[in-house]
Amino acid sequence: MEVVVGKLSGFCFGVNNAINKTEELLKLEKNIYCLGEIIHNKQVIDKLKNEGIKFIEKIEEAANGCKLIIRAHGVAPEVYKKAKEKNIQLFDFTCPKVLKLHEQVNDVKKDSYIFLIGEKEHPEIIGTQGFAGRNISIIQDENDIDIAIKKLQSSHMKKLYIVAQTTASVQKFNMYTEKILEQINDVDIEINKSICDSTRLRQEEAEKISKKVDYMIIIGGKNSSNTQKLYSIAKENCESIHIQTKEDLDIEKIKKYSKIGITAGASTPKEIIKNVEEEIKKL
Ligand code: SF4
Repeated sequence: MEVVVGKLSGFCFGVNNAINKTEELLKLEKNIYCLGEIIHNKQVIDKLKNEGIKFIEKIEEAANGCKLIIRAHGVAPEVYKKAKEKNIQLFDFTCPKVLKLHEQVNDVKKDSYIFLIGEKEHPEIIGTQGFAGRNISIIQDENDIDIAIKKLQSSHMKKLYIVAQTTASVQKFNMYTEKILEQINDVDIEINKSICDSTRLRQEEAEKISKKVDYMIIIGGKNSSNTQKLYSIAKENCESIHIQTKEDLDIEKIKKYSKIGITAGASTPKEIIKNVEEEIKKL
């Protein structure tokens, strides 16, 4: 059996940065809050909980004057404001690429309507939306395009700025942008393909590997959006499975294949990828 492991599998720069800084911080401080899960990986979250991190969903749950981590996905300006009111000391580990996206939408919001292509409930989108003001529509699927165009028309703005969640699918971004361009001809359009290189290269690698193997294993948290995208790319080319750890492997099924591909989302630790690889190599 041949096993091909994606060279880009595992932590991206932003996640690595947030995890390393959190671990450094834990050497000096205990009792730290973190707004949302720092990465979408249960094993890492459980370990950090044991070391003293309290994960909360809303800033309202944080104690006055506490220390609070902001994860790589970033937050809306409202959160910074509330943190100040509660005298909270922030450790802002927002990925620099997400910060750049915040700056870009903030810069154009005065005279452009914004179409943000991404997932409506994703924390990065919620944060970015906060920087974009009122003239924004989120496009998650094709049905949202018509609604967004109607809103643009009723805003009477003459400029449109199309931008993406850093972990959006490149294929979807291109497809939706093309559809938008076909329907709009009376406004100036600026396209910012703000999909992060880490995401783009991982998607390209997953596509390449899945075209060469019989079965593809994608490792990552079930709620990790970039892992879900890798899975949807892979399954277009070969039979694929999205697993969280080696315990989810269907060994009997895998035995039927001769060429297996492995890749992992941007928040999957190397150790978990290694464990899966070793399990397969035993066969
Ligand atoms: S995927 Fe890209 S933008 Fe998102 S956290 Fe990772 S490096 Fe940053």
